[in-house]
Amino acid sequence: MNNPGLYIHIPFCLSKCHYCDFYSSTSTSAVPDFLDALSEEMEMYRDRFDPFETVYIGGGTPSLLTPQQLEHILKRVEEDFRLTSNPEMTIEANPADLNLSFLRSLRGNGINRINIGVQSFDEKVLNFLGRRHSARQGVSAVEATGKAGFDNIGLDLIYGVPGQSMESWLDTLNRAVAFLPEHLSCYQLTLEPKTPLGRRFQAGEFSVPGEELQYEFFMKTSEFLEETGYLHYEVSNFARGKEHASRHNQKYWDHSPYLGLGPSAHSFRNHQRWWNHRSLLQYLDAIEAGNLPVEESEILNGEQLQLEALYLGFRTKRGICLHEFKTRFGCDLLTEKEEILGKLREEGLVSIQDGCLSPTRAGLAIADRLSLV
Ligand code: SF4
Repeated sequence: MNNPGLYIHIPFCLSKCHYCDFYSSTSTSAVPDFLDALSEEMEMYRDRFDPFETVYIGGGTPSLLTPQQLEHILKRVEEDFRLTSNPEMTIEANPADLNLSFLRSLRGNGINRINIGVQSFDEKVLNFLGRRHSARQGVSAVEATGKAGFDNIGLDLIYGVPGQSMESWLDTLNRAVAFLPEHLSCYQLTLEPKTPLGRRFQAGEFSVPGEELQYEFFMKTSEFLEETGYLHYEVSNFARGKEHASRHNQKYWDHSPYLGLGPSAHSFRNHQRWWNHRSLLQYLDAIEAGNLPVEESEILNGEQLQLEALYLGFRTKRGICLHEFKTRFGCDLLTEKEEILGKLREEGLVSIQDGCLSPTRAGLAIADRLSLV
């Protein structure tokens, strides 16, 4: 079995972006209590996992913590868990928080990969999204990250924003690739009903790009980045060479084990998935009472795992390895789904490459529907 990944959720943000549906609190006075609870949670899982191959500090906004607080977290990780040699150690960061001394302290503490939430280099788009940084700060943050010695830099970008033209999006992409980042994540904006943008949309304040335009955004993004030398290896993810694909995210996609710590974090091992309380207060209360802060868990049966493997596999460029799938689930996809797969191949949505059933670019654009074969 592959080595596990460790995810640590930092549930705080200085302000809430208008589209955000993730769990995070803007009341940072609880940070010290949270860090104590996180240490306790680590202690509860001490020695219960094989050495971790990846550590991912996400959120929320991990970069609002001080260098000392982040150092404390990483020290606890080293004390309570074993890591493989050469682990991938990633942090998510808001451009507004990044300066040279902060970035150098991250490097000094073993962080070797950073995902910067630039989102756009268009000020209007950033304002609409309610981001707390400017396009100029995005540029300075990426420059400082390179100066601090990071050689594995990822930029997170958003497209399909109401009012965003294709021209504005391609300009953002052009400016992003000019930095030669090792990784790019390009997410399509989704409007969740309970967010401020979701409510404004329901009130009819603006319209959203239709399905055709969204498809065009997706295809143009993929074409542009592949022509620029990036590998489109998952629906939303691009890497400058296979070696820069996210090792951590791969664990979610291939059912490798992972442990998630902090409010709302999910874990998976041996067919079992469990997740923590979403609310910080409930999380803190559970830990204070000496309990794991787990809200619920489920055991996936063979059929559910098979469905998930299809869903997750079709979201990756590699697709579904037919031999592995048959060994794991006893299902010969080519025989059992002969008719529908024949149709998808005719329509240019999937192809068979190196023993894998792989989505084409057009297939990746509708990956979630492909899994319904
Ligand atoms: S910084 Fe990220 S987690 Fe925080 S509010 Fe914005 S999108 Fe949500």
